Amino acid sequence: MARILIVGPIEQGAVHPGTREVAALAAELGAAMQLPVVGTVAGPAEASFLAQMGQLGVEEVLVVAEQSAPMLTPDRIAAQVIAVAVACEARVVLVPHTSDTPEWLPLVASQLDAGIVMDCQAVAFDGAVVATKMICGGAIGAEYEVAKDTAVLSLTTGVHKACAPAPAAPIRRIEANLPAPALSLIEEVLATTSEGPPLKQASIVVSGGLGVGNRGNWGLITELAQTLDAAVGASRAVVESGWAPYSQQVGYSGVKVAPQLYIAIGISGALHHLAGISQAKAIVAINIDPKAEIFKVAQLGVIGDAAMVVPALTQRLREIRKSQIDT
Ligand SMILES: Cc1cc2nc3c(=O)[nH]c(=O)nc-3n(C[C@H](O)[C@H](O)[C@H](O)COP(=O)(O)OP(=O)(O)OC[C@H]3O[C@@H](n4cnc5c(N)ncnc54)[C@H](O)[C@@H]3O)c2cc1C
Repeated sequence: MARILIVGPIEQGAVHPGTREVAALAAELGAAMQLPVVGTVAGPAEASFLAQMGQLGVEEVLVVAEQSAPMLTPDRIAAQVIAVAVACEARVVLVPHTSDTPEWLPLVASQLDAGIVMDCQAVAFDGAVVATKMICGGAIGAEYEVAKDTAVLSLTTGVHKACAPAPAAPIRRIEANLPAPALSLIEEVLATTSEGPPLKQASIVVSGGLGVGNRGNWGLITELAQTLDAAVGASRAVVESGWAPYSQQVGYSGVKVAPQLYIAIGISGALHHLAGISQAKAIVAINIDPKAEIFKVAQLGVIGDAAMVVPALTQRLREIRKSQIDT
């Protein structure tokens, strides 16, 4: 019997939090298509990861019997997901979109002879699977109807409601003859980590652009972020200037964020930057130029010099915080 398969990538020692959003969407899709939902992991099949997947409202968690290697290369992850998808006759394979997904998901789609849409914001069933995603740097929302029997989809995270925890589902190991690995991992280099919450999951992002002035002023952004328990973001121009690492770049060729609040400081609002913040619930812009494009998408704008406005704002927020703690 055909099924919907949700795949939980393993990141930083846990199933990716976006998998809970994928599970909620899969439940809606399952009701519309009258198909049960099962789960698997993209990564090592440790008991704790399988248990996390089992609490996402799935009928069962399927895993390849030999899926235990601690470091998995993209071709290995793809082979394991393919084996599970074949075993459960998956009609839809749904996965949260992460920076790693593009490395292995197209392999899955190609081996399953499936239609693939990556980084989509919505998925519906209307006789066929229809996925919606932003294209042209976020300027246009496009709908894609999947013409193949199987749809392979990655979902933008931070956009959907997460599923509620469900009672633990059974775990079933399946035997599969996986092809010999095409790649082997020689060395892993850990990325630079920054303080504060991860950009992708943060509910507040404080982001700076060239209008911050210079590298020495970048502390204005990080201090405001610290005061708000926010993640730090940056425009590409800032990253190219070496004031912030690429992992903090927000936009079309960086991270797409979906916070409750996005504070854009000294950012002009170029289309490529806006492509990364279209899912932000509220945008506050601080810019010296009243005609800056960013003000067209901001709910609140402050026209002023970042070097004056930001320290004053940080100071005021600290005072408010302190008075809240004191009372
Ligand atoms: C293929 C491609 C992909 C791209 N991907 C991305 C991406 O992912 N992310 C991204 O950000 N960009 C991306 N870009 C670049 C993008 O088009 C812009 O060039 C970039 O976003 C501009 O960065 P900025 O707003 O910091 O700088 P600027 O455009 O130079 O804007 C600086 C702003 O600061 C304001 N300002 C100046 N002084 C002050 C002051 N004292 N106080 C307050 N405000 C001040 C100015 O009025 C101006 O609005 C991409 C471009 C291409 C071609």
